[in-house]
Amino acid sequence: MTLATLSDVLQPALFGRYAVAGLVTLGWEDMRAFVAAAEAEECPVILQAGPGCRAHTPLPVLGKMFVHLAEAATVPVVAHLDHGQTLDECRQALDCGFTSLMYDGSRKPLTQNIDETARIADLAHAAGMSCEGEIGFVGYQDGDRSSGTDPGEAAKFAEDTGIDAMAISVGNVHLQQRPSGGLDEDRIAAIQALTDVPLVIHGGSGVPAAQRLRLARTTNICKFNIGTELRQAFGDALRAAINADPQRFDRIEILKDTIDPLVAAARAVLRDLKPEPAAAC
Ligand SMILES: [Zn+2]
Repeated sequence: MTLATLSDVLQPALFGRYAVAGLVTLGWEDMRAFVAAAEAEECPVILQAGPGCRAHTPLPVLGKMFVHLAEAATVPVVAHLDHGQTLDECRQALDCGFTSLMYDGSRKPLTQNIDETARIADLAHAAGMSCEGEIGFVGYQDGDRSSGTDPGEAAKFAEDTGIDAMAISVGNVHLQQRPSGGLDEDRIAAIQALTDVPLVIHGGSGVPAAQRLRLARTTNICKFNIGTELRQAFGDALRAAINADPQRFDRIEILKDTIDPLVAAARAVLRDLKPEPAAAC
């Protein structure tokens, strides 16, 4: 049984100067590949079910899949609700076995975001689980624009909500298909000068890999969410598997061919963030 909460994996990361990957899952194939990758790299992993995943597969099913994988894993696995939208949804996630709730009140006014996130944090903590909030707004490629995190607001948000991890907007953008100019390191420094809550970067696929590695080692960023680049790896592998044999029609036979490429892609992500060999995992 290696089901872990977000705090279980982020507090050691904060003190050990490394980061844990929050890997965006869409189905069974990527979930099992990500856990296999974490086992091969001997580091923790956070399996994330976001709104798109939940629209495709019901939350109770996702909870069972995450918990099943965690119980058999040799490394800590966090079952994380990503971008939870309502109190009811967060409550349902806890009932379904999730160990970590991300509540996204980032589109709301500060006081409302604080009040609502604090309620979710209380709910999670009462169940022995963890909560991640978001302050500032992380925008979307070809969608809503970002609003950078104000360091003073971030400190107040962390203090007033009691969250275990804080997603910040420092130049990161969701859904980027290739690395962009990178993160605003001055703003990260200003935020962590005022609060010691572990920091989270959504839109990690758009951050150059070298900067991800360096910031994992030198700042309070303890979690990078990675979705797009692994979805690209899966899509490429699936396309190759279908094209390799036009006669093949059994989906399990086709999907089997996606596992190894996806494990390799996830291992590359995890390798850059995990503790250096001398440190404990
Ligand atoms: Zn996000």
